[in-house]
Amino acid sequence: MKIQDANLSGKTVIIRCDYNVPINDNKISDDTRIKASLKTINYVLESANKVILLSHMGRIKTKEDTKKYSLRLVSERLSELLNKKVAFCNYDDDINKVIDENKIILFENTRFFDLDNKKESNCDLELSKYFASFGDIFINDAFGTCHRKNASNVGISKFLPSYNGFLVMDEINMLNNVKNDPKKPYIVIMGGAKVSDKISLIENIIKKADKLIISGGMAFSFLKIQNINVGKSIVDPDSFDFCREILSKHVDKIVLPLDVYVSKKFENGEKTLRNITDINDDEMALDVGEKTIDLYKNIINDANTIFFNGPVGVFEFENFSYGTKELLKMLKEKEDKVYIGGGDSLSAIKKFNISFKNVSTGGGASLEYIEGNKLPGIFEGE
Ligand code: AMP
Repeated sequence: MKIQDANLSGKTVIIRCDYNVPINDNKISDDTRIKASLKTINYVLESANKVILLSHMGRIKTKEDTKKYSLRLVSERLSELLNKKVAFCNYDDDINKVIDENKIILFENTRFFDLDNKKESNCDLELSKYFASFGDIFINDAFGTCHRKNASNVGISKFLPSYNGFLVMDEINMLNNVKNDPKKPYIVIMGGAKVSDKISLIENIIKKADKLIISGGMAFSFLKIQNINVGKSIVDPDSFDFCREILSKHVDKIVLPLDVYVSKKFENGEKTLRNITDINDDEMALDVGEKTIDLYKNIINDANTIFFNGPVGVFEFENFSYGTKELLKMLKEKEDKVYIGGGDSLSAIKKFNISFKNVSTGGGASLEYIEGNKLPGIFEGE
């Protein structure tokens, strides 16, 4: 159900946005998400009578958290960007009065309701009904929370005609290039720390991928089960059986590091280059080496679709950022064919200041979508 299918004329339209923006020293330090919401809001304003905006911010566990995570600053920034008044409705204000008196209203952080038995996060029925009572039509435009069943994105949709906004649809169209029919050769680069977080992703993706580059901390579980000494490198013993099975079935597709930079401690300290079979007992591998990067280069050069998920080293430490930085530089040259989603890949591209066209903003949501899971916040059908 797309936003263009909705008859918005004269209606009060509720839009669930993703205004989970970083705030430092009482200022919004990155307003990308606010800017990204303008397309849907402006479209709705062309014909609707009123617009009510809902969003979460941060996690609310104690009353103290409500001071840190108010959306008031967002209403001020949004008002500047839209060049229109955006009324802010506090948690304890009379919402009906605020709606009567204004055209555009941002309601306070929906997770403030988590203080009362986690009603927002647990998709409480009464709270969902309450949110639905604000308007006539619901539009979900918060892709990052589409995999979660909350009152303000999924619960509310049980009570109102519901549609997906432009941001959610753009993100889905982008991810469909990887999910449905990736142009071959299709290669996937998976890094990050733990295998167990990515088991279902690996299982699903390996069926379609021509090559799966397993890198970062994850690689060492796959090496260890082949009796390679990985020293003190991170391993995930609970996933060893899974690693064995996937390796035995898909040995020709899986690519593991050939050389690594090791350290004696998990810190931004001295580094030594080792062949993958030469790691000593007291060493841990924190980055990939030049030979491995050359290998990646050959594979990437031939690829027509590349999905990148997770850094290939501890890029947060300057001395171990080589592999991730080199890889991102290579990927930048094939930008049109590269899709980036999930977890720390976004932090890595920000850190190295390399921009990409096809970046999914929703970490967990993008991975679940690519795995083929139905996301409760995506409203299918006509
Ligand atoms: P993820 O959130 O699963 O993408 O994991 C990202 C984290 O994996 C980053 O914080 C990296 O520092 C970490 N990581 C990457 N390579 C390694 C490695 N060789 N050893 C330990 N952690 C790693």
